[in-house]
Amino acid sequence: SQKVEFSGRTRVFTISNQKGGVGKTTTAVNIAAALVSVGARVLVIDLDPQGNASTALGVAHNAETPSVYDVLIDEFPLADIVQTSPESPNLLCAPSTIHLAGAEIELVSQVAREHRLRGALIDYLAIEDNHLDFVIIDCPPSLGLLTINAFTAAEEVMIPIQCEYYALEGLSQLLGSVKMIQKHLNPGLHVSTILLTMYDGRTRLAQQVADEVRSHFEHEVLETVIPRSVRVSEAPSFGQTVIAYDGQSAGAIAYREAAVEIVARDTTKKGGS
Ligand code: ADP
Ligand code: MG
Repeated sequence: SQKVEFSGRTRVFTISNQKGGVGKTTTAVNIAAALVSVGARVLVIDLDPQGNASTALGVAHNAETPSVYDVLIDEFPLADIVQTSPESPNLLCAPSTIHLAGAEIELVSQVAREHRLRGALIDYLAIEDNHLDFVIIDCPPSLGLLTINAFTAAEEVMIPIQCEYYALEGLSQLLGSVKMIQKHLNPGLHVSTILLTMYDGRTRLAQQVADEVRSHFEHEVLETVIPRSVRVSEAPSFGQTVIAYDGQSAGAIAYREAAVEIVARDTTKKGGS
């Protein structure tokens, strides 16, 4: 398979959209696996109490599993909870468990409550053996302290947009949240990537939504569009990403193309072009 060059720097993405069911988790795990397939080492941090990203990556995440809850609340080192996905030694996951549902409330009274994840990630990356090319954080749909921790730890926001009615609804709220985080917590945060997903080329509506999003966000929208595909939606029930489940399917091919675009679009990459 195609191998590409990485910057040597760790690019940290948070996958965000305040709507549920738009393809955040699907994008987080499949982009991660696609990046691994072109040679990257990638950590997915599952910040959603539902734990769908952990399920799709095939890692343990029952009530006893050490998880991001322990990192955020009890200051466990990230290295103590990170697991390797059975799919690849270069695909890592910091799992979520059901305990994370309570973290939103428990964090309120904690010191540096918005910076917990950022601190843990910095400590993790300071250890030489822990080099990562990408960190992908999967967020819950709400703008609570879990999502704020992700915004504070990340540099890039990736927004998956479903090519259906009201695709742009709620987007101005999300952009407002990013502005607020830039101002108060993380000046480097920016929306670098928008990925059109669940695209059905047979409908005029999907094309209209895609055109509308592209006209609003000329520079952010990837050329690659993720098609609506049964293989993509089936994969998690086998504890797999679509890259491992059916690597030749249209969904897998699209996610790999999107990953290559993401690598190529790194404007901060040293050495140019
Ligand atoms: P979110 O994390 O934003 O809530 P999910 O990633 O869980 O959204 O996706 C919502 C639903 O849509 C899931 O059932 C998922 O399998 C399905 N889905 C996501 N992307 C696709 C796709 N490209 N084709 C078909 N189904 C998809
Ligand atoms: Mg999700």
